[in-house]
Amino acid sequence: MTDVAIDPDRVLGNLYALREIGKYKTGVHRPTLSTQDIEARQWLVDELNAIGHAAQIDGIANVFGQSPASDRVILAGSHIESQNHAGWLDGALGIVYALEAATVIAGSETLRGKGVDVIAFADEEGHFNNFLGSYSFVGELDETAIDQSRNRTNGIGLRDALSSAGLAGTPRLVMERQRYEGFLEAHIEQGDWLESEGLDVGIVESIVSICQYRLVFEGIQNHAGTTRMAIRKDAGVAARNLLQRIDEAFLDHSAPRTVWTTGRITLDPGAPSIIPGRAEVLFQFRDADPDKLEELHNVLHGLVEEDNSTGPCRVSIETISRSVPAVMDPNIKASFDQAAEQHTPARHARMPSGAGHDAQIIARHIPAGMLFVPSIGGISHHYTENTSDEHIVMGARVFVSAAARLLSSA
Ligand SMILES: [Zn+2]
Repeated sequence: MTDVAIDPDRVLGNLYALREIGKYKTGVHRPTLSTQDIEARQWLVDELNAIGHAAQIDGIANVFGQSPASDRVILAGSHIESQNHAGWLDGALGIVYALEAATVIAGSETLRGKGVDVIAFADEEGHFNNFLGSYSFVGELDETAIDQSRNRTNGIGLRDALSSAGLAGTPRLVMERQRYEGFLEAHIEQGDWLESEGLDVGIVESIVSICQYRLVFEGIQNHAGTTRMAIRKDAGVAARNLLQRIDEAFLDHSAPRTVWTTGRITLDPGAPSIIPGRAEVLFQFRDADPDKLEELHNVLHGLVEEDNSTGPCRVSIETISRSVPAVMDPNIKASFDQAAEQHTPARHARMPSGAGHDAQIIARHIPAGMLFVPSIGGISHHYTENTSDEHIVMGARVFVSAAARLLSSA
């Protein structure tokens, strides 16, 4: 298709325009429902209206721009808010690619009657609650959840924040599933794999599941000077020893892309001269393969059981959450493969997504696919996050070309 060429200057120009909204050093500070976030959303509404889409901000702050097309339509987008004082491309890249796809396809003669609806989900970054916008758009966010959500930085309730943004009483839009061939989301990789392999784009196979656990160690709190080592029941030592064994066992059982993290260790009472009577550990692991996740879940429980039988402290394990890996649609993956092979032969590969994305929520309802571009040094969630202009432009070419392929295939 000759008339679906992107405009590189427009892609970069739109990204630069978004970077000015809430600019912070070389990144942005655009937390959900802040004035900067609403300004960015309004910017997108204006851009979408300018290409003939009917755009609005709905009652959860999702921006939705509907194409006038009705023959074959795909949905594309990402999130537009940022983490606090973070990078300029996380979310924004997927928004600008979706806008470019909508613009190019709206002007294409060969794709007449076909179009791209654009969505900017609210709060993928979880200032109030992870994936608020995508849950709302698939009809899985109830009013009670909105009543109960508070901003993790300033404690402001979601209702009050929506009201301050002028969105109180605005209806929430729900996806018309039958309208769509599928959902496409582009994102920066937020890791260093593409860069280290010298690749231009990655096609996401599946979005990993995160399994999170709380381990609680019960020992005996006592005096750090007078209690002999032989009789101590130190919950801190018990936690450290078990974590060491988990690390060793996971090295044996993990797949190449499995990752595991101890995010927090709390010792109680946490004083220099008191032997901890209690320790709490937050532990998580991620993988894209359900069988591997099950195996690691069992390994972890086995180690806890073993620890309990040998003592000296009691250990309990609680599952905080276990999500299911979101497998991307084979047809969309194939379209990305073909588009990538056309624009950057042999410099693309399939890969898992180690981070969560709105596409995992949408994938439960319509076919979904994701495209990654390299992150310089793998840095993200920091204001120095960046991607080269060449990679940004190449990603846009592959993304728009894949969208055109999906819309033109019978
Ligand atoms: Zn993101």
